[in-house]
Amino acid sequence: MGIQKGTVFDIKRFSIHDGPGIRTTVFLKGCPLRCWWCHNPESQDPRPELILRAERCIGCGACVEACEAGAIYVEDGRIYTDRTRCTRCGACTEVCYAEAREMAGQEMSVEAVMAEIERDVTFYDTSGGGVTFSGGEPLTQPDFLLALLRACRERGIHTAVDTCGYGPWETMAAVAEETDLLLYDLKLMDEAKHRRYTGVSNRPILDNLRRLAERGTPIFLRVPIVPGINDSEEELRRLAAFAANLPNVNRVDLLPYHPTGKGKYERLGRDYPLPDLHSPSEERMQEIAHLLEDLGLDVGIGG
Ligand code: SF4
Ligand code: SF4
Repeated sequence: MGIQKGTVFDIKRFSIHDGPGIRTTVFLKGCPLRCWWCHNPESQDPRPELILRAERCIGCGACVEACEAGAIYVEDGRIYTDRTRCTRCGACTEVCYAEAREMAGQEMSVEAVMAEIERDVTFYDTSGGGVTFSGGEPLTQPDFLLALLRACRERGIHTAVDTCGYGPWETMAAVAEETDLLLYDLKLMDEAKHRRYTGVSNRPILDNLRRLAERGTPIFLRVPIVPGINDSEEELRRLAAFAANLPNVNRVDLLPYHPTGKGKYERLGRDYPLPDLHSPSEERMQEIAHLLEDLGLDVGIGG
């Protein structure tokens, strides 16, 4: 068997919002959903992707020379990139000393990821932390994810998998078998709205949750609160009624929408789907938390 590899777009050390204790969060690239509020748009496409920070460009022209695909050209003294011709080779990022160009996503082996994870074992041990595999959607790289989970288990490192829940049950069950905790995103109970705002049905997500409840896999539910999209009382009551029937859900974390992903869309050459939306106020978050607590859930605000 060859070396197991996958595509990773970030590794964050000392994270305190992705599960218990101090954690290293490994972000795997690729996601089947396209949530309008996604603040990691660079996580969605499974392939490596070019990020452009046009404001940093000093017009040296080195990238034009380096691009064998002819995707970069000069017009009226300015540098332009035609993404339809870009083959994602990354050559231009190697020669851009102004750091205006960067690739989101790189291929890494299980061993290379484990070397990063193992740097902070002492912190995991002292804080009750560990590693969280996030994304994107980590289940889109099942073999890589399972190999990483097994490697962590062999070394006695606690693992969590942050999932949108959308994937074949067989994959979900295999992952649930190998991880200590699932951080499971639940965005909308209304099927039509779920399709509209994420691009997919919520049925597999709800079905997988029910089946995980039968297995007793420990779950922290994560609910993004997106004003005007999923924060109506009706929607929140439906969600609470569903969650209250899942005995394996230990708590519900409410994650307030924030527009920090906005600039990233521009750097990827895409339009931001919610240009005028603001974060919910602290008072509004408290109000929602109290509503869900009154309906029998153990609620926290933030990750
Ligand atoms: S190499 Fe970087 S700084 Fe030079 S022209 Fe290209 S994008 Fe601009
Ligand atoms: S990533 Fe490769 S193909 Fe795309 S613009 Fe840069 S050099 Fe050209």
